[in-house]
Amino acid sequence: AELDTLDLVVLAAILFGTVAYFTKGKLWGVTKDPYASSLANASSAKAGKTRNIVEKMEEQGKNCIIFYGSQTGTAEDYASRLAKEGKSRFGLETMVADLEEYDFDNLDTIPDDKVVFFVLATYGEGEPTDNAVDFYEFITNEDVNFTEGNEPALGNLNYVTFGLGNNTYEHYNSMVRNVDKALQKLGAHRIGDAGEGDDGAGTMEEDFLAWKEPMWKALAERMGLEEREAVYEPVFSIVEREGLTKESPEVYLGEPNKMHLDGTAKGPFNAHNPYIAPIAQSYELFSVKDRNCLHMDIDISGSNLNYQTGDHIAVWPTNPGEEVDRFMNVLGLSEKRHTVVSVKALEPTAKVPFPTPTTYDAIVRYHMEICAPVSRQFLAQLAAFAPDAEARAEMTKLGAEKDYFYEKISLHHLNIARVLEIVGKGQKWTNIPFSAFIEGITKLQPRYYSISSSSLEQPKKISITAVVESTQLPGRDDPFRGVATNYLLALKQKQNGEPEPCPFGLSYELTGPRNKYDGIHVPVHVRHSNFKLPSDPSKPIICIGPGTGVAPMRGFIRERVQQVKNGEKVGKTLLFFGCRKSTEDFMYKNEWEEAKEILGDNFELITAFSREGPKKVYVQHRLKERAEEINQLLEQKAYFYVCGDAANMAREVNTVLSQIISEQRGIPEAKAEEIVKNMRSSNQYQDVW
Ligand code: FAD
Repeated sequence: AELDTLDLVVLAAILFGTVAYFTKGKLWGVTKDPYASSLANASSAKAGKTRNIVEKMEEQGKNCIIFYGSQTGTAEDYASRLAKEGKSRFGLETMVADLEEYDFDNLDTIPDDKVVFFVLATYGEGEPTDNAVDFYEFITNEDVNFTEGNEPALGNLNYVTFGLGNNTYEHYNSMVRNVDKALQKLGAHRIGDAGEGDDGAGTMEEDFLAWKEPMWKALAERMGLEEREAVYEPVFSIVEREGLTKESPEVYLGEPNKMHLDGTAKGPFNAHNPYIAPIAQSYELFSVKDRNCLHMDIDISGSNLNYQTGDHIAVWPTNPGEEVDRFMNVLGLSEKRHTVVSVKALEPTAKVPFPTPTTYDAIVRYHMEICAPVSRQFLAQLAAFAPDAEARAEMTKLGAEKDYFYEKISLHHLNIARVLEIVGKGQKWTNIPFSAFIEGITKLQPRYYSISSSSLEQPKKISITAVVESTQLPGRDDPFRGVATNYLLALKQKQNGEPEPCPFGLSYELTGPRNKYDGIHVPVHVRHSNFKLPSDPSKPIICIGPGTGVAPMRGFIRERVQQVKNGEKVGKTLLFFGCRKSTEDFMYKNEWEEAKEILGDNFELITAFSREGPKKVYVQHRLKERAEEINQLLEQKAYFYVCGDAANMAREVNTVLSQIISEQRGIPEAKAEEIVKNMRSSNQYQDVW
């Protein structure tokens, strides 16, 4: 849908009218800020909120709820996009809702002139995302109970559903599949297909785009909706706060919440409230110049955080200065980067994804995934705001043609600012309302790392083992660089006083907002996982951890060393480790030797160096060579762990294990596969990331 110039003028007028309206009179109280977003103090905002979705819909005059179950933000992002599209194209009164924030026992009272969407990511081993656990348990419960006791229970419910999954995992899209099944069983009516996006094949976005068109058609038919010319309506107003500067104490400069702003940060530390942890030490694990792998010890002794061996730590990154500058520059915001703004939702059910008042600089640096892949749909939407007709035509083409988009954008890993620079040929895109970015770009996500230390050995120090993401791509002078790992690299370089203060010309605001992270700190929280050693340490374990997949295995082995030191009897421990060359990326080489000294014959390291011999050797080949021993250990109920590179290695290891069982036990492959499946469901076989 395109806007013509007149629309634009009208839109701009509305937008600036809104701004003028909100800023009129400058009645800004210092203590009570009417435009500070609810996120600033999430707990008090939560207190008075209803958990009754039907009540909420009525109160807000909504007829379309879009629930999301999201872990990394993508499902949430898709939910927002569906909400916007439903509103602008079909006039639906949409609202986005976090599954965690509502109860479901009155789903049966939602009238049939309304529709409920479920956008559901599957996490890890077919699990619901953290925010969807309660909903999932409720809806798939055999004895599910609704308030009204209708028959069939959900006979009035119209629903739409899309799943986000990864086909390299065994339980591909199991969330959407199981929820869909449960809803069908309860008599609910699905509109359109139960969509499935595949991150493993890298087609998530295209799967989503291909699914939603027929879905909208079916929905329009079912609900008698008429499609109209879509007009962009901003969801947020951005109000410039003349009375405030970035020095004003109530202005957020990247602080994640009110406690951090006030300097009273305390636990519980979690996905809404990171702990600003000192990095005790950091060093390089590789001995080659062109690749980096970091070891970091993060000190959590000043917090009430705790962890268990096998858990994950989340790192809250900041964007590199150069990309922040690029973004500001292409939008013509460079001069205004430190201007203080309040962001307010123009519609009561939308949430401002960061605390305000804040500055453009802080929003872009600390809260938006400005380096992430861009969506085709977003480019199509931005076409209306292009600086000239040529750029508008190009954005429309990129938005419409899948293959063209792939060749021009995806292949080179371009981020949004780079796309705008190229398409606009250097012109500034000053027409785009800033709200469009808040809506269209995911909020900056913490990155997870498998903890590589043992909580028995060091309960208050968490180790990370992270390979720095850096890829040379065609058609780009500079390599593509991952956000969090290059931020960590910069911290390591600073901590060790290395000559280059920032990696590859990327400069990070390492001292954080108001220098609160100075002295080498990083914001973190801990996520508990099911990746755990057997409770009986005398059980044998087999660990497959090539590359950084060795991270949680290091934790396991250090745990076992500590157990022996504590006088416990520890079972056989095999570690299959692979890398390119013994002289380049053989991580923790000395530590394995030390472990051997304590664990003796009970520990064996089996290595696969892929680039040393005439033929490439990987961990799965080594596993096969040990078929007899592996089978014996499994018969003694050995636990089997796999980590790293789910796409290829983990899948092949799974296959090899079935082959081993089949050959060694003289049983058909299908039977062996069944055994491996059962090992997985009983947690005897665990794989992670
Ligand atoms: P990002 O900036 O997030 O980029 C990551 C990838 O996304 C890129 O390689 C690219 O494929 C894609 N991408 C990003 N931007 C674009 C773009 N503009 N266009 C196209 N593609 C793009 N990693 C470890 O090293 N060690 C661990 O122990 C570890 N444990 C993990 C445990 C769990 C449970 C999970 C979920 C992940 C784990 N990871 C681990 C991976 C880690 O979380 C990060 O994904 C990884 O470090 C990369 O983060 P980054 O911010 O540097 O890269």
